[in-house]
Order: sequence, then structure tokens, then C-alpha cells
Amino acid sequence: MALYIVLVGVQGAGKGTQAAILSQQYHLPHVTTGGLFREMKTQDTPLAREIQRIMNEGSLVPDDITVQVVRERLQQPDAVNGAIFDGFPRTLPQAEALDKLLGDLGGKVNLVPFFNLDRETAIKRISGRWECTLDPKHVYNENSNPPKVAGICDLDGGKLWQRPDDTPEAAAKRIDLFFEKTMPLLNYYRGRGLLNEINAGQSIEAVTAEMISALEKAKAG
Ligand code: ADP
Repeated sequence: MALYIVLVGVQGAGKGTQAAILSQQYHLPHVTTGGLFREMKTQDTPLAREIQRIMNEGSLVPDDITVQVVRERLQQPDAVNGAIFDGFPRTLPQAEALDKLLGDLGGKVNLVPFFNLDRETAIKRISGRWECTLDPKHVYNENSNPPKVAGICDLDGGKLWQRPDDTPEAAAKRIDLFFEKTMPLLNYYRGRGLLNEINAGQSIEAVTAEMISALEKAKAG
């Protein structure tokens, strides 16, 4: 049975960090729409330029474009056994589109870990966030999860940088959009018995442990 997991949480809640751990442990691809959009940066098409503009101001990419990008990603051979979604779905229409997409593939969403974090902590975490230039999935935080050597990735020695949309203005806008557009998803998934709420203010290890135990239960059930 394929396994599809949807990670929900405000910016800075630790979705990317936990997705990378799950992806390795369960051999499933980490499907992050933000990452897929950032990869399009190298393309010089009107669509890629428009996406770039939307991202830099911290707004949401339109649902139809986002769903299309995910549909194409799920057609890659590494996604036959499932996927870990990070940053998708972010709106109710996207959640409905995902159900349809997975239904067509003979699967369904199996679990929705919700990393609960308050707004103030989220802003603090984002402003301290540093990403590896060689692999954007290697993410650090100068306060809670610093690299061994400042400015250098522990895993591959890449230089660390701060994302252009992590400016205080763009970050605040993304956080507002989370509470406005993405919070309604919680009810959608709660109603289906899929939601697993986790206190994201805990250590990375504690969050992982709770998530894995919920996942093992979901797999068994
Ligand atoms: P963060 O979670 O810190 O906002 P992401 O990498 O998930 O970072 O997303 C970066 C940007 O990519 C978003 O601000 C938005 O412009 C775009 N984006 C990512 N995922 C989606 C989505 N599911 N729907 C619409 N836009 C998205």
C-alpha cells in the first residue's frame, strides 16, 4: 500500500526538518511545492518569472498551477510507493484536488501530522533560519539548531544563506496566510480522522518520536 503523508504547520514549525527525516526513514520522496517552485527559478519563461514574483512578495501561487506541479511530481518513478508532502496542500481547494489526484492513483492521504506552533515563536524561528546553498533541504537555525561552524553546512560543507522571502515583511505575510487559508484544512482532515496534533515547540527528536508513533499506528490500522 502506498503511503501519503501531509505535513501541516506554520512557517518555522519544522515541516522541512521532519519531512527530511521521514523521507529517509520510509524511503519516500519529500515533495515540497516551495522547493519545486524555487527549482523553476532557473527557467526563463513568463510562468517562471511570475512564480518568482509571487514568492518574493510572500503570496500564494494560484491553486491550478500548484496542483499541476504536484501532479507532474507524482508521476516520477520515485513516488510509486507514496510521498511526504511539505507545504502542500495549503488551501481547501488544493486539499480537495489532492484527494482526487491520489484517488486516481489508487491511494489516499494516510496521516496529517499538524505541527502546532504559536505565531511569535514562528517569526523568531524564521528570522534565524539558514539554508544550505548546495541542498535546500539542509536547514539550520542560529538559535535552536545551529551548524557546527557558522555559515557552513554540517552535512556537505555548502555555504549557508537566508531566503529572500524570509525578510520580516514577506515572512509575516506568509504566516498570516497560513492562519487564514491553511488553518481551515485542519477541520477538513480532522473530520476524516487523519489529524495528529503535535506540539512543535518541543525538540526536533521529541517531535519526530511523536510523528513516527502516529505513523506506525496509521500504517497498522
Ligand atoms: P514557507 O513554508 O516558509 O512559506 P515554502 O518553501 O513552503 O516556504 O513556500 C515558499 C513560497 O512558495 C510560498 O510563499 C508560496 O509563494 C509558494 N508556495 C509553496 N507552496 C505553495 C502552495 N501549496 N500553494 C501556493 N503557493 C505555494
